Amino acid sequence: MPSPRDDCLFCSIAREGAYVNKTKGFVAINDINPRAKVHILVIPEQHVDTFREVEEFNAKESKRMLEFVAETARGAGLTDYRVLVNVGPTAGQTIFHLHWHILGDEDVSGEDVPAALATAEADA
Ligand code: AMP
Ligand code: ZN
Repeated sequence: MPSPRDDCLFCSIAREGAYVNKTKGFVAINDINPRAKVHILVIPEQHVDTFREVEEFNAKESKRMLEFVAETARGAGLTDYRVLVNVGPTAGQTIFHLHWHILGDEDVSGEDVPAALATAEADA
């Protein structure tokens, strides 16, 4: 597995963050700027810049990562929720360490660009 990157916020958080859930190789934290009542980020310990490089996880790890997303949502008491991954800056990615957004506990079903996808620019 590649080493954590010293200059990467989510590598640091994966090592020493305030987790809401954790399993081998993956952590979940509350988003610092929540866009829903529940807004959790699932972060792999392994540094991968974006979802484009998801192939860097083997089949077993990929399955465990998805199961951990579902388990984390369940653990937060959610039955209906959205799972989002922003891939690349023009899709709203601001932190270049793969992470999964879990948004829920309110109506997050908007068909247009939802609040959940709002970028920091829109917030400003
Ligand atoms: P994205 O825009 O998809 O790259 O998502 C990055 C997310 O990380 C945003 O929703 C931010 O609010 C969140 N974020 C940034 N810094 C922190 C932090 N220190 N702790 C928790 N969440 C953070
Ligand atoms: Zn990283």
